[in-house]
Amino acid sequence: MNGTSSHAPQATSPVVELSGVTKEYPGGVTALRGVDLTIDAGELLAIVGPSGSGKSTLLHIVGTLDLPTAGQVTLAGHDVGRLSDRKLSALRAQHIGFVFQAFHLVPGISAQDNVAEGLLYSGLPRAERHRRAARALERVGLGDRTGHKPHELSGGQKQRVAIARAVVGEPDLLLADEPTGALDSASGEAVMRLIHDLNQEGATIAVITHDTEIAEMLPRQVRIRDGQVVHDSAARGPLGTPVRSDAR
Ligand code: ADP
Repeated sequence: MNGTSSHAPQATSPVVELSGVTKEYPGGVTALRGVDLTIDAGELLAIVGPSGSGKSTLLHIVGTLDLPTAGQVTLAGHDVGRLSDRKLSALRAQHIGFVFQAFHLVPGISAQDNVAEGLLYSGLPRAERHRRAARALERVGLGDRTGHKPHELSGGQKQRVAIARAVVGEPDLLLADEPTGALDSASGEAVMRLIHDLNQEGATIAVITHDTEIAEMLPRQVRIRDGQVVHDSAARGPLGTPVRSDAR
C-alpha cells in the first residue's frame, strides 16, 4: 500500500507498464500477443477472461515471476528484463504482494506468524514484524484469531490472513489471483469488500478472474482473450490521457 509512503501517490504515476508483451512457451504456444497494459497507483482493476485466455501468464509477467519472450515490463520505474535474478527478487519482495485462490498459508504456524512471513525480507527485527502482523490481522478483521493455525480457520478467514500477509509490507501492487475462487458466496463477498476497502485506503490492486460478475464490481476491467487485451475500460488516448471507452 502507498498509504504511509513518504510521498503521496500521484493519480497517474504508473506502478507497472507492459509494452508489446508477448509470451511463447516452449512447444509453440503463444500465451500473450503484444499486450500493452499500464496500472497506475491507486487503481483497482480486474483482468478478466475465460480459461486459457492467458490470465495466469499475464499475472506471472506482471508479478515478475516470469519474463516475456518479447516486449518490455517496467515495475516501479525499473526495466525488469535488465535486472539480475537477485535484484528482481528484491524488487518483487519490495513492490508486490500476492494473493492466490488456494491461500498458500504455511500449515502448522499461527495466523500471526503467517502474516509476519510477508515481512521476512524487510530487514525489520522479528518483534516489529510480529507487531505489524498483529496490526494487519486487526485490519482484516481477524484481531481475535492471531494465534489460530490455518486448519483452525474458515476458508474466508484463511483468505483474509493471506491478504494481510500480502499487504503487511505495504507493497505498491497487490495481485490477487481468483481470490474468491475457493470460497462460498458470502465469504467471497466479504473478501471483495476488503479488497475495495484496501483500495480506498490507497492500495493498488489487480484481481485476476474468469468471473465477469466479479470483474464488473471493480472500477476498471481489462478483458483478455486468446492472449490479447480485447477491451480495457480505462483505455488511453493518443496522448496518454485516460479515455473511458465504455462511456461513449
Ligand atoms: P488462463 O490463466 O487464462 O487459464 P494461461 O495463462 O494459464 O491461461 O494459459 C494460456 C495458454 O498458454 C493456454 O493455451 C495454456 O495451455 C498455455 N500454457 C500455460 N502455461 C504453459 C506452460 N508452462 N507451457 C506451455 N503452455 C502453457
